[in-house]
Order: sequence, then structure tokens, then C-alpha cells
Amino acid sequence: MRLYDTASRTLREFTPLTPGHVSMYVCGATVQAAPHVGHIRSGVAFDVLARWLRYSGYQVTLVRNVTDIDDKILAKAETENRPWWAVAAYYEREFQNAYAILGCTAPTVEPRATGHITQMITLMEQLIDRGHAYAAQGDVYFDVRSFVDYGKLSGQRIDDLLPAADSATDSRKKDPRDFALWKSAKPGEPAWPTPWGDGRPGWHLECSAMAQAYLGNAFDIHGGGLDLVFPHHENEVAQSKAAGCDFANFWLHNAWVTTSGEKMSKSLGNSLLVTEVVKRVRPIELRWYLASAHYRSNLEFSDAALSEAAVSFGRIENFIRRGSEVVGTVDLSVSINADFAAALNDDLNVPAALAVLQNAVTEGNSALAAGDTATVATSVAAVRIMLDVLGVDPLNPAWSATTDDGVLGEIADALIQQRIAARSAAKADKDFATADAIRDELKNLGVVLEDSADGVRWNVER
Ligand SMILES: [Zn+2]
Repeated sequence: MRLYDTASRTLREFTPLTPGHVSMYVCGATVQAAPHVGHIRSGVAFDVLARWLRYSGYQVTLVRNVTDIDDKILAKAETENRPWWAVAAYYEREFQNAYAILGCTAPTVEPRATGHITQMITLMEQLIDRGHAYAAQGDVYFDVRSFVDYGKLSGQRIDDLLPAADSATDSRKKDPRDFALWKSAKPGEPAWPTPWGDGRPGWHLECSAMAQAYLGNAFDIHGGGLDLVFPHHENEVAQSKAAGCDFANFWLHNAWVTTSGEKMSKSLGNSLLVTEVVKRVRPIELRWYLASAHYRSNLEFSDAALSEAAVSFGRIENFIRRGSEVVGTVDLSVSINADFAAALNDDLNVPAALAVLQNAVTEGNSALAAGDTATVATSVAAVRIMLDVLGVDPLNPAWSATTDDGVLGEIADALIQQRIAARSAAKADKDFATADAIRDELKNLGVVLEDSADGVRWNVER
């Protein structure tokens, strides 16, 4: 397998550090807003990689952090007038919900920054001892001039870099490009005690500390969105290597979801939130759309392109369903199409892999038309295995469960609403015996009615 490594700017043969095992760290969300499709692309891209590695026989350890303390979270807490930790917890759940909606396999662990302050303090102590960091009036800064390779990951020279925009003033820094490992406490802000005073972590320090805590001195793959290369990942490498770690062997970056050629941002409003988009297409169709581009290519988002993707997925799904009706359960333990595998082994070339998949569907449809059930069975199995690697096999119970739940939920709601209407009509007729009987009938089924000013609501009794 070859993967494009941002650090060396080349396709390199991927060999895990420990045979049979792949360790991955992917930068997760700063939990300060609900995720839009641009945020979630990284989750889908690295889920496809993890699935392919597992399918290829590796045991995968995937760490995806949660940045639960940050300037943006504090600002949001102020606007929403609730505690910062309530904001972080709320949006962390929003992200988890979005990952789950899109069928992303849960990471091995999802560490939160605030749970790893001890490791961050240790890391800062090591950096100060080695002459790579310094404390200044309660802040702690990384001394970029002390690390000869600073700028190498992102391909920049120190002298060309702008000042690090992570502190209110540069007056405490030796060099304006020095970045904050730790920020001294401001009144009213959350703070943790350190040998240099109370404060809170800088964003970059968190990932270095958590990657080392779970994956050790060296690990196979560090992933994240392309926008993280500088300064975030540059600073992570600097911190970890300066502290004596070997850190990541490969750096993988997914490109953006763009709108009108620009990186999607939350200023575009709510229509691109994952929870909104899945009202326009089914979740499996959105995943198909996000996964179908090469992870290093920008994906220009439009509703037209999304609908087109849904239609093309529908054709594949249609074949799987019709084929399965004809041949019944198929054996999914057969080996995967070699050309499909070769495409994924070539830096996860999903578009090339999908061409192979589409051919298999065409072949399967011809076999269906010809009544050649043996070929239909082979094609259904082949296509389902390929879809499953991408996380979009429509017959995988993970998807059918969500589909059925949604449909059954709607049916249940419609039936209960009919009973509620009948009860209201009985009440209006002053037929309280019937009204009470309907309420009791629903209660026996575990459905409780709640009369409110806005009408009658129903809930499942817990
Ligand atoms: Zn990170």
C-alpha cells in the first residue's frame, strides 16, 4: 500500500511500525458548533482508511481527540450564557451524533483535552528542560528558533512566517513566531494549576500530549484536514520531536469541502449542517457522496451534485436489492475484487475503485436480465463487499436498523396522533369515559400523553 505523506511530499510505501498493527491519531473537533458537512468529511475519509486497513488484515488503533477547551468555546459560552463545559459537552454530542448518522466506526478512544492536563504539564517540563520552551508571566511558549526543523512539515522558512496569532500580545515572546503552549488565566476563565501559574492549554500542546499518552513515542499515521498542516501540525511535530519523541511516521491530510471554490465555513448558515442535509438525502447517500471523491481532492458541494450522487447510489442499491431478492443470502467471505483492492492500495484511490464497482454492477444487471443467477450471486457478493469497505453496504444491519427505526417511528407517530385526535374529540363531546379509556389504552402500550398549552404531546414511558 502506498500513501501520500505530506511531510515528504511523496507517495511512500506504507509499512506499519509494528507488524500487523496500525496506530493512527486523527485531530478531532473543537466542540463549539454543530458539525456541517465540511467538518465531517475528515471523519468519513479516515473511517474509510481505517476500514480498508482492517479489511487488509491490520488491527487498527484509532485515537481521535476532542478539543473541549478553546478560545472559541469560551466565546460561545459567553454568547449562549451557559458554562463552557456545557457548551463543550453539548457540541461533542452533536459531533458524535453526526459521525454515527454517517456510519463512522467509533474510534478506539476519544480523549478530551481537559482530561490530559497532567500529561501536558509533563511535556512542557521536558521542553523547558531541553531548552525548547520558556515561561513568561504565566504563559509558556515554544521557542521556534530552538528547533531546526521548524517549518519543514508545511514547507516554509521561519523567516517567512507571520507572528503566531495565539496570544493577545507579543511582548512576552522571544520571537513573535513563538507559539503558546500554555496561556495564563484571565479572570473568570477556567484554569488549571501548573508550576508556572494557573492557566489553560494551547490547542497544539493538547494533541502532542494525547498522541503520546495513547500511542507512545512513535506511531504510524497522523491525520487531519488540510487546513491543520500549519500551524497546528507544524507545532505538534515541533513539540513532540523537541521533547524526544519520533512522533508520526506518515502525515495524511484530507482536502476540503468547498462551496464556490472556497473552504466551507459555518458562516454559510444552517443548511449545510449534517442534521439538515440528511433531511434532503438519506444518510447513506450523504456518506456515499462524501466518500466518493479522492480524499486529497476538494469536493465542491452543491445540492445538485448531492442529488446526482444519491441517484447514482440508488442505481447500485437497486441492483443489490433486486439481486438479493433473486438469489437470497450471499456468501460475503469471498475475496475482494483485485482491481478494487489495487486502487485503494494506491493512496486510497476511491474514484478508481468506484469505476471497478460500477463495472461489477453493470455485469450483475446484465446477468439479472439474462436470468443467470450464478453470476448475479457472485456480483451481489462482490459489490456488497466493495461497498462495505467504503461503509455504504445498504444491507449492512447498521444501515437497515436506522432506516427501519426512522420509518417505524413515523408510522408510530401517525397512529398515535390518530388516537390523540379521537381522545380530543371525545373530550370535546364531554365523553370523558372514552377519553380516559384512550389515554389508558396508550399507557398500557407504554405511551404517555402530556397535555400542554401547545396541544397534546406523547412520549415513550421510561
Ligand atoms: Zn490536533
